[in-house]
Amino acid sequence: MDQSQIDLLRAAPIAPRGLFIDGVERSAADGATLDVISPIDGRAFTTIARGTADDMKAAVAAARAAYEDRRWSGQPPAARKKVLHRWADLIEAEALALAVLGVRDNGTEISMALKAEPLSAAATIRYYAEAIDKVYGEVAPTSDDVLALVHREPVGVVGAIVPWNFPLMIGAWKLGPALAAGNSVVLKPAETASLSLLRLAGLAHEAGLPPGVLNIVTGQGSVVGEALGLSMDVDVLTFTGSGPVGRRLLEYSARSNLKRVYLELGGKSPHIVFADAPDLDRAARVAAMGIFRNSGQVCVAGSRLLVEEDIHDDFAAAVARHAAAMRVGDPLDITTEMGAVNSAVQLDQDLAYVETARAEGGEVVTGGGRILEETGGYYMAPTVITRVTPEATLAQEEVFGPVLAVTSFRDEADAMRIANSTAYGLAGGVWTSNLSRAHRMIRGIRTGVVHVNTYGGADMTVPLGGVGQSGNGHDKSLHALNKFTDLKTAWIQL
Ligand code: NAD
Repeated sequence: MDQSQIDLLRAAPIAPRGLFIDGVERSAADGATLDVISPIDGRAFTTIARGTADDMKAAVAAARAAYEDRRWSGQPPAARKKVLHRWADLIEAEALALAVLGVRDNGTEISMALKAEPLSAAATIRYYAEAIDKVYGEVAPTSDDVLALVHREPVGVVGAIVPWNFPLMIGAWKLGPALAAGNSVVLKPAETASLSLLRLAGLAHEAGLPPGVLNIVTGQGSVVGEALGLSMDVDVLTFTGSGPVGRRLLEYSARSNLKRVYLELGGKSPHIVFADAPDLDRAARVAAMGIFRNSGQVCVAGSRLLVEEDIHDDFAAAVARHAAAMRVGDPLDITTEMGAVNSAVQLDQDLAYVETARAEGGEVVTGGGRILEETGGYYMAPTVITRVTPEATLAQEEVFGPVLAVTSFRDEADAMRIANSTAYGLAGGVWTSNLSRAHRMIRGIRTGVVHVNTYGGADMTVPLGGVGQSGNGHDKSLHALNKFTDLKTAWIQL
C-alpha cells in the first residue's frame, strides 16, 4: 500500500450516484438524494439517490424479466464462471480505489479495508465461480423400475439487504453464490455505505453480466428495504444487519408471498481466557484486536472478555495497555490501527452504552469517550470496562462499537454458563492448553463458530452464521449455495 496513491484517491471528487437498474444508472423517481457524509471529517462529499418504493418495484421487475428470459440462468455454468472471473479481475485491478472509496464512506481503517473489502469480495466471487460447474445433482437410490433425479435450480429473484460495516465483503457473500447459481439479484446497500457497491455493480456489467441480473437500489431501509421485503416477486431475501430489522423482514415475508428469509444478525461473542492459556501475552493482544478492529463494528467481535479470576486483574490490565496504545485516527493513513466510527448516530449510541455500563457498576479502565473532535470526524477511544456482571446491559446487548466488557469467572462450568447467557450465538473464542477442555468448550458454547487459541480466523471454505438471535442462515462455503437454489425431484417410471 502506497500512502501517496491513497492521498491522490482520497482527493478525487465523487460524482453524485444514481440507482443501478437494468444495467443503467438513473435518478430516483422523484429525483430525491441523500448526502453522503464521511465519518473521517463529518462532511458531505457526494450524494446517492434516495430510491422510492416505485424504484424498488422497477428493479424487481428488471430482475424478474432477466430471470424469466434466461439471459443469465440459461447460460452454461462454465460461461457464467468466465464472466464472474472477469468481474473478479476488474475488482482486483481497481482494489485500492474501491477500498479508498469505501473508507471515505464508512470509516474502516484502510489497512484492514483493502484486504477485507475488495480483495475479499474478489476472492468470494472466484470461489463461487469455480464451484458452480463442480456441484452436481443427485440420482436417488430408488427401486430398479424408477429413475429419480434431484435437480438443483436457481430460486429466481434474490433480494439482498446489507449493512455498512463491510459492504463489499458481505455484499459478495450474497452476490457470489446467488449469481453463480443463475439467479437475478436486487441489492439494497446501507444508507452509509453504498458507493463501493454501486461501483462493484458497474464492474459486473463491464465483465459481461447481462443487464437486469444485478440491480442496486440505494435509499432508506424503511422505504426501499421495506418495498423489497414486501415484494410479491422476490423469492428469497438474504439479510445481514441488526435483530430488529431482521424481525421486520420475517413480518414482511409473512405479509407478502412467504419468501424464504435468511438472517445474519448481531452478536455478543464471548472471548474466554483460562489461566492455562498457552501464551497470555499473545492472548491479550488478540483480545484487543478481536474487539477494536474496524472500531468494534464487526459482527463476530469478541465483545465480552471472560477471564479466569486468578489472572483477571493482570490480564485486563494487559488488554487495556494494548487498547491505549492503539493508533486511532484518519482511516486513510496506512499506519492507523483503528479508524472512525461509521456515523454520528452510531457514535452517540456507543457513548451511551459506556454511560449505562458506568451506572451499572462497570469500571472504565481505558477510553470511554469521543476523541479527535476537532477533525469533525467520529472517533472514539478504544474502551475497556471491567466489573461487568453477566446480567449487565453491556454484557447482554450488542454495542457494535469499540467497547470491551470484561467479566471474571471461577471455573470451566462458570465460564460456559456465562458464555451462553445471552440471546445471541454468533462467535466465541477459548484460550487454553488443555485439549480436553478446548473440546468441551467447543461442544458447550452455543455459537456458529468457536476459535481456539486465536480469534477471528476464517476463509471461504468455512460457513459463517449464528444460532439463537444471531440468525438462521450461513454465508460462505458451499453451504451458502443451498440458500439460493431449490431442489426439484424428477420421478421417472422406467
Ligand atoms: P441495520 O439492521 O440497521 O441495517 C441493515 C440494512 O437493513 C441496511 O441496508 C438498512 O438500510 C436496512 N433496513 C433498515 N430498516 C429496514 C426496514 N424496515 N426494512 C428493510 N430493510 C431495512 O444494521 P446496520 O446498522 O447496517 O449493521 C449493523 C448490524 O449488522 C449489527 O447488528 C451487526 O452485528 C450486524 N452484522 C451481522 C453480520 C453477520 O454476518 N451475522 C455481519 C455484519 C454485521
